[in-house]
Amino acid sequence: MIPISSPYIGEEEKAAVMEVLSSGQLAQGPKVAAFEEAFAAWSGARYAVATTSGTTALHVALLAHGIGPGDEVITSSFSFIASANCVLYVGATPVFADIEPAYFTLDPEDVARKITPRTKAIIPVHLFGQPCNMDELTELASEHNLAIIEDACQAHGARWNGQMVGSFGTTCYSFYPTKNMMSGEGGMITTDDAAVAEQARLIRQHGMAKRYVHEMLGFNLRLSDLHAAIGLVQLKRVDGWNAQRQANAAYLSEHLADVPGVVIPAVRDGAEHVFHQYTVRVQDRDDAVKAMSEQGIGVGIYYPTAIHQQPLYKNLGYDLSLPETERASREVMSLPVHPFVGEAELSQVTAAVKNLQPAAVLV
Ligand SMILES: *Cc1c(COP(=O)(O)O)cnc(C)c1O
Repeated sequence: MIPISSPYIGEEEKAAVMEVLSSGQLAQGPKVAAFEEAFAAWSGARYAVATTSGTTALHVALLAHGIGPGDEVITSSFSFIASANCVLYVGATPVFADIEPAYFTLDPEDVARKITPRTKAIIPVHLFGQPCNMDELTELASEHNLAIIEDACQAHGARWNGQMVGSFGTTCYSFYPTKNMMSGEGGMITTDDAAVAEQARLIRQHGMAKRYVHEMLGFNLRLSDLHAAIGLVQLKRVDGWNAQRQANAAYLSEHLADVPGVVIPAVRDGAEHVFHQYTVRVQDRDDAVKAMSEQGIGVGIYYPTAIHQQPLYKNLGYDLSLPETERASREVMSLPVHPFVGEAELSQVTAAVKNLQPAAVLV
């Protein structure tokens, strides 16, 4: 089976973890500080604050921006559930805008329609590694005085008009094993805003500015030095891996461009897509997934159920229609694109997709 993802731990990662174990400093310490500094330099943001996961990075970022009960935050329903749950964690209300069908990212026109006097922030999700239309979203944000909190958990190193996604506002990353780079578990908040960075540092550590002086209600969301040591090594690898993902995506697109009924992923003008996932649309998706699996190809469905249609949100009373989000959740299928898929395997993937016709695909 060609796996849909292939987390990599090399000798250097192992040695880095052993070094931390030998040092006896296991919790948040010098490795976390070094990881934050290196990540800030790499992303082009002034500050970086590490947390335990992408989910907690989003949670802390919203708190650091002062978002809470009575506030509305606009995000995408076509995402991993954390993109919306972070809003619930702080007692605010997630408001879902639809996506642009070509790119699977927030549709700025629908975002504009969903803005109310209570809207405080937009969470653009750079889904699958493709940046949202940040020109239009940042323009809307400045017009309505909204914070931008980017969910770049799938978009380490993606660029919009040459500018790194993590440098538009406050941005959250995940280092879960399947992401473009990882630390085991882990997350990072980047920002140019000194006050947001300061708040985030307080919130992740029990609101503690000085030892055992607690200024506010915080949490224990500290990353460990063991995880940071892995992240530091992976940060040196991520640009090379992204280039390999892009090359793999180019191969897939070249060979799948003319397959009837298969819609290959489009890259927006001005976007540098880092292909966390290579996601096509097919008509009879469930049959297609079954046929691909039978041919030894590990495919993924991200995501089979839109967030607003999850039981959690239905039970909260969400009852809205987002036609493009719902259609995408029925049609998407992701193919292996990770840096460890070789050319022979890529050709197996494209052959398997071509074999799908005509039964499983739209003609
Ligand atoms: C992975 C992911 C998250 C959450 O990150 P964790 O580290 O798993 O908590 C949030 N948003 C998106 C879009 C993700 O892909």
